[in-house]
Amino acid sequence: MSILSIEATALLYLLAAVCFILALKGLSSPKTARRGNLIGAFGALVAVVTVFLSTELDNIALIIITIAIGSAIAAPVSRRVAMTQMPQLVALFNGVGGGAAALVAMLELTHVDDLGSVIAVAFTVLVGAVSFSGSVITFAKLQELMPTRPIVFPGGPVVMAVVAVASLASAVWLVVTGAPLAAYVLLGLGIVLGVLFVLPVGGADVPIVISLLNAFTGLTVAASGLVLGNTLLLVAGTLVGASGTILTRAMASAMGRSVAGILFGAFKGGSTAGSTAASDRPVRSSSAEDVAILLGYAQRVVVVPGYGLAVAQAQHTMAELASTLEAKGIEVVFGIHPVAGRMPGHMNVLLAEANVPYEALQEMDEVNPQFKTADVALVVGANDVVNPAAKTTPGSPIYGMPILDVASARQVVFLKRSMRPGFAGIENDLLFEPQTTLLFGDAKESLTKVLGAVKAL
Ligand code: NDP
Repeated sequence: MSILSIEATALLYLLAAVCFILALKGLSSPKTARRGNLIGAFGALVAVVTVFLSTELDNIALIIITIAIGSAIAAPVSRRVAMTQMPQLVALFNGVGGGAAALVAMLELTHVDDLGSVIAVAFTVLVGAVSFSGSVITFAKLQELMPTRPIVFPGGPVVMAVVAVASLASAVWLVVTGAPLAAYVLLGLGIVLGVLFVLPVGGADVPIVISLLNAFTGLTVAASGLVLGNTLLLVAGTLVGASGTILTRAMASAMGRSVAGILFGAFKGGSTAGSTAASDRPVRSSSAEDVAILLGYAQRVVVVPGYGLAVAQAQHTMAELASTLEAKGIEVVFGIHPVAGRMPGHMNVLLAEANVPYEALQEMDEVNPQFKTADVALVVGANDVVNPAAKTTPGSPIYGMPILDVASARQVVFLKRSMRPGFAGIENDLLFEPQTTLLFGDAKESLTKVLGAVKAL
């Protein structure tokens, strides 16, 4: 029995939609992101409870059991996941969302009869299936269950074109006949298409594809809203589709890429294959004490944090080192690259957690002119985002990506554990330049030693 009137249901849906919009607004700045997240979660709770109170549900026990199982899996996984593994978790959740939308649309096929709804069903089945299988492959790549490099095979573009055309033909078949068999064929082809779509995408570009698939899932949810006549799904799906599209474009431009280049670049034979082999070229390495002297006698230091800072969980030690240097009258700023780490805003979140003031965090365009006057650029667990190959080596996987211009600083100090490359799997020539010094070791251990030595100066 439905407890809520149609008007009350509409009002509650409106409340949930407003919460989703405020959540996105909150998520646009690190200062308000936590609040935005809570508002979004509250909106989702309102939406789910409203469905229960406003709909005649046949299989309520089954639904509750399914929600309980899903929550029992998702809650501990979300709590335990390391921040550095967040992109793969997002990929997995996103894939499940796309798959669910496709399945709901398959079920709705028996209930719809107007042309518009059948088109929406065909769209949801196809795009939801692409989003599901594509997300599973991105998860496997990021989790290193399969090679992260682009996987191309002879005739790949032809196979992809054939599957794409067959998918469109099945969609038309479904729309014209409404036959359940056509929906199953479309689902199968969509799954194959999703796999083919993501296999050629390599290393550093995988996160952009996650964001794109997220936008796809949003669109499928919006289409489900049309099929089910549910305004909230329509609004929520459109918000996810639009924000996913904006994020995809922002990430692609931060990496100096076009979205088409990311998806199909490997087919053109560009060198997108990286490696994880350590270089054996000679470098200048030094001790924590030497680095402390460099820092302690500097006037300006620009810190460039990267993925390694997150892995080592060295943000608190880094923040303490920065404030110790500042207490000695040394100016310290943090140069934040938009794709440093493994997710958008990763470095901002880490450093905010360590109470580094927002004013000390400077975006790439703001900080780049300042390297020329910096005595030391301290690169903590970053590599690709400072690799000059992005400017100098056409064909490199990161060619065209704007980088932090650390090479202009008087001295460059890299904190890393080994000579292994970064995410894109390519050597960084800056490591071998005369102004560069390496302090080998886990970033947290190295920073702790440097901090002790700076205090002792
Ligand atoms: P990179 O992956 O290029 O480099 C990380 C560096 O950290 C490596 O040199 C590694 O060297 C070092 N490192 C790893 N662990 C530690 C540790 N415990 N202590 C000290 N050093 C450590 O990171 P960047 O941040 O420079 O670049 C990000 C890359 O990730 C880009 O290619 C970007 O495209 C990609 N990406 C970005 C996403 C985003 O949205 N921000 C999402 C996913 C990928 P060593 O192993 O020798 O220690």
